[in-house]
Amino acid sequence: MGDCIFCKIANHEIPTEIIYEDDQVLAFRDLNPQAPVHFLVIPKIHIESVNTLDESTFPVVQAVFKAVQILAKELEFDAAGYRVVTNCGVDGGQSVSHLHYHVLAGRNLAWPPG
Ligand code: 5GP
Ligand code: ZN
Repeated sequence: MGDCIFCKIANHEIPTEIIYEDDQVLAFRDLNPQAPVHFLVIPKIHIESVNTLDESTFPVVQAVFKAVQILAKELEFDAAGYRVVTNCGVDGGQSVSHLHYHVLAGRNLAWPPG
């Protein structure tokens, strides 16, 4: 999608340290980390948000969680625990209109979120 920043990262058009990549998704560290570990997992294809997932794109969510599981083990925060969250729309606090899952770890995370 034209000037979507996450499409550009997915297409390797913006230099970003990719920490995981497969045929469907990639993961990279958040620019503005909210926890000692904070990375994003995104589909390579442009999907705006959970609202626009459909039968043809639901499998990418499976790929996202596979990546999360692999990285949680690799970065060794699987046992301590972590949070996976996707913000949707204005009230959800979504600022980038390309589906992404935040993975936060490395500290005790408060609940409920703000
Ligand atoms: P949202 O607010 O949409 O749920 O999350 C977007 C996230 O993307 C934010 O946490 C923000 O810090 C991160 N972000 C925005 N632009 C970039 C970028 O160019 N590179 C990286 N690594 N993260 C970004
Ligand atoms: Zn995009």
